Amino acid sequence: MHSVQEKLQVYAPATGKYLGAIEETPAELVGDFYQRGRNAFEAWSQLSVRERLQYLRKLKEYMADHMEDIARIISDDTGKVMTEALVADIMPTLDAISHICSHGEKILRRQKAGTPLLLIGKKSFIEYMPRGVVLVISPWNYPLQLAVVPMVSALAAGNSVILKPSEVTPLVGKCIEELFDKIGFPKGTVQVAHGGKEVGAAFTAGKPDYIFFTGSVRTGKIIQEAAAKELIPTTLELGGKDPMIVFADANLKRAAKGAVWAAFTNSGQVCMSAERLYIERSVYKEFMKLLRTEVAGLKMGTDENSDIGSMTFPGQIQIVREQLEEALSRGALLETGKRPEEWEEGMFLPPTVVTNVSQDMKIIQEEAFGPILPVIPFDTEEEAIALANGTEYGLNASVWSMDMTKARRVASRLVSGAVVINDAIITVANHGLPFGGAKQSGIGRYHGDAGLRIFCHEKAIIEDSGKKVNEIQWYPYEGKYPLFLKLFKSYFQRKRNWTEFGRNYLKLLKK
Ligand code: ADP
Repeated sequence: MHSVQEKLQVYAPATGKYLGAIEETPAELVGDFYQRGRNAFEAWSQLSVRERLQYLRKLKEYMADHMEDIARIISDDTGKVMTEALVADIMPTLDAISHICSHGEKILRRQKAGTPLLLIGKKSFIEYMPRGVVLVISPWNYPLQLAVVPMVSALAAGNSVILKPSEVTPLVGKCIEELFDKIGFPKGTVQVAHGGKEVGAAFTAGKPDYIFFTGSVRTGKIIQEAAAKELIPTTLELGGKDPMIVFADANLKRAAKGAVWAAFTNSGQVCMSAERLYIERSVYKEFMKLLRTEVAGLKMGTDENSDIGSMTFPGQIQIVREQLEEALSRGALLETGKRPEEWEEGMFLPPTVVTNVSQDMKIIQEEAFGPILPVIPFDTEEEAIALANGTEYGLNASVWSMDMTKARRVASRLVSGAVVINDAIITVANHGLPFGGAKQSGIGRYHGDAGLRIFCHEKAIIEDSGKKVNEIQWYPYEGKYPLFLKLFKSYFQRKRNWTEFGRNYLKLLKK
């Protein structure tokens, strides 16, 4: 029995209601988790991809049958509205599983590769060998998707998995554990360890074969440092400060609606939310008017028809407050929302649009993870690109224009893991596209083919029929050097000389 102190007490952020307690995983059990994970790996990795995908299919069907219950748990635990629990957390998870079930076998099977002429007579292949026990450490903002998608990817590839979900949303962590339990994965194949950063650190130190981390830049760096000591490979999905560029020739009404959604969905607690809005100066006034109208129509609350839920994590409110206070003290203006000292008690923050902002303010440079949207006008395409690229992040971005040539040109020049034209955020919802960041937004990609293959060692294989007794590059070397010289020159020189190549090759064969 563990004492009360070793339980995560859960309160609904939106209502303050007590939701229960989740028992923390004691650090001394880390070794047992890895032992079970390694034992399970032996059998799980030997199943065919098709057999493994059967489990994932069952998981998808079970989740589809229990969608409303899962949405309720997510909404209670995070404060996000039910619609967003469904559309932005459950749907992408189910779609990812569907994608993996449809394409997993093709992506993970042995691939034929080309063989160069100098290795004539041989065949080349690439094989994908699972790594072992994968540790997934996940955050609280999309607590289902950002845990389950890496988990199912690692599982499909043949690994066993230990999940350490965020302590901020432990009910969802428990829900994930129960979902996998219900499906009946072989014992030890999927394990969930509950607790905070100490538990995360203890599992990181437990020598997993791969770490898949989603969370803050700060923690990502701590994990990368720990992983480096043991040469443990990682994927780090970190923060973002995504720019949205609106050109004068955009569909302004759509762009205004898009900006409001992209900035305030999930109360802005989205690594890919629109966090900086750059508007071409000639339409600035008109656009701001549209933006204010859109924000005025938003409903905050907890019912099914609400647009904006509460913040999830109290510490986040302080970060938003500090950024806003710094901006206001330096002359920024509130277009919507309230000054921090006027905020109401509790976890709801008003959607806040801020103007008269400069590029060096924290509100532009640092991830806010809250419902604030700073706006800056620009004059030229070059300036817009420079401003958009002017932070240390590079996760996602959006470009709004009816001129596709211009929009594509700008998109190509943004240092960003993804860019959306005339929409925002949604690359994450296409599991066929790679997901990940540039600069401080992270290391590595998942989703798509890469999303399964990162969880494997890529193995190069060459096959020879074994019929020949010798190879030209084997011993003895006597008399071979001048022949190799001629062979390679005839092959690599500007114009290939096949006669010379053939003659020397035959001579080498006879040596
Ligand atoms: P966020 O603020 O987005 O939750 P964090 O990086 O603090 O970002 O947390 C993301 C996940 O990382 C959580 O599951 C958390 O418990 C875990 N975590 C935090 N610190 C560490 C650490 N030092 N080692 C391992 N995991 C950690």
